[in-house]
Amino acid sequence: MFCEIVAGLAPADVVREWGDVIAIRPLAPVAPGHVLVIPHTHAADVGERPLVSARTMACAAELAAELPAANVITSKGSAATQTVAHLHLHVVPRTAGDDLPLPWTPQQQAAGDPAASL
Ligand SMILES: [Zn+2]
Repeated sequence: MFCEIVAGLAPADVVREWGDVIAIRPLAPVAPGHVLVIPHTHAADVGERPLVSARTMACAAELAAELPAANVITSKGSAATQTVAHLHLHVVPRTAGDDLPLPWTPQQQAAGDPAASL
């Protein structure tokens, strides 16, 4: 999917273009201003092409520099919650008290889950 977006073959809400890296709004942002930073070169994850990862992080850093607080996050492998096999960095603006959980934040049991009352 991201290969098609960076090639201009799939629609995307483009926030910024560097020529070799693109920043787009995700379909389901977790916070206002949430963007995905994606290299044009295909890399399955952050570990596959370290120099592509570094370049992508440099672009994410430019966006993060414009924010007072943010998470810059990527995941490798389904066990680490990676869902799209094309490297992408999330830049998520944060505000005090937004209560946005990180992937490793212990999740509360869903309401109605019998385990929640134990
Ligand atoms: Zn790809």
